[in-house]
Amino acid sequence: MSQNLLVDGHGRRIDYLRISVTDRCDFRCVYCMAEHMTFLPRARVLTLEEIYRTARLFTGRGVRKIRLTGGEPLVRQGIVGLCRRIAALPGLHELVMTTNGSRLQELAVPLAEAGVKRLNISLDSLDPEKFRAITRVGHLDDVLRGIEAARAAGFARLKINAVIMKGRNETEVADLVDFAIRNEIDISFIEEMPLGEVGRDRGESFFSSDEVRSRIAERHELLDSVEQSGGPARYQRLARHPRTRIGFISPHSHNFCSTCNRVRLTAEGRLLLCLGHENSVDLLGLLRRHPLTDAPLHAALDKALQSKPLRHEFSRDGEVQIVRFMNASGG
Ligand code: SAM
Ligand code: SF4
Repeated sequence: MSQNLLVDGHGRRIDYLRISVTDRCDFRCVYCMAEHMTFLPRARVLTLEEIYRTARLFTGRGVRKIRLTGGEPLVRQGIVGLCRRIAALPGLHELVMTTNGSRLQELAVPLAEAGVKRLNISLDSLDPEKFRAITRVGHLDDVLRGIEAARAAGFARLKINAVIMKGRNETEVADLVDFAIRNEIDISFIEEMPLGEVGRDRGESFFSSDEVRSRIAERHELLDSVEQSGGPARYQRLARHPRTRIGFISPHSHNFCSTCNRVRLTAEGRLLLCLGHENSVDLLGLLRRHPLTDAPLHAALDKALQSKPLRHEFSRDGEVQIVRFMNASGG
């Protein structure tokens, strides 16, 4: 390896990069976006070539896992070709993706063939009307068929991500777990994070991971598990269903920062050092100013990592602390 590994100012090795390939999306989930969004003009979004160059830069510095996300990564033109190129980068162990599943019916097989190893698919409700209310425009059937297509396409692992909100879908926790069991896939429950002003009071709908756990325990025996994903999720197993792991992503009630191994690249090329802080580095500017030499980019990366915050500071009352929306951050 020609360059040093990436290590931040607190001695944490950074080997995981999340890239938001677009801020656009075909859904408007109530926790993620406002109803009427203005998206970035195309010239301010990283080109596919710039995304690839950044991925190459990071894998050259020891990054082993890349997650493509968004916005909705599958609405980005050329996404399959980009996946194929990134998956082939030397040193990369795993290319994975987070998607809302709406386009998986057509794209599951091409993505698997391109080298995407695992998919996280967002699914907050199994009731078509509630699903529509949460996503504002989505069709549950498309996503369910997408999940079916992904199962058939042979990914190493699939996982459902569900954001649980009081008054919207907290009654569906156990049904979502049963769905995961039937399909032999994992499921993670996410506490809503205060990213962006979405036009409602998030504090009122806050539903903690502990409350989710109690809902599951009404139907299933949960076993403690020491498994670690290298990320913020904590896992438990079900006594009678060993093929399904249950994850809890609890930014409010569990602080996972001490083992943080990741940074994020936004669709407009800002490198975010922490989801819970505003400080970032303008990589897009550097990429465009230095098309032929990577040295200034490496120097900027090293400098930026020294300022990676020790921890996030989300509060539980739902107050918006970060003005960015999740779709712009690469959730
Ligand atoms: N469009 C894709 C999807 O929905 O899976 C990928 C991008 S989305 C921003 C990534 C994940 O972030 C999704 O699982 C979504 O549920 C979650 N998410 C979005 N806004 C959130 C928020 N305010 N709090 C917690 N999770 C959020
Ligand atoms: Fe789109 Fe994903 Fe945000 Fe929903 S959570 S609006 S699907 S980017």
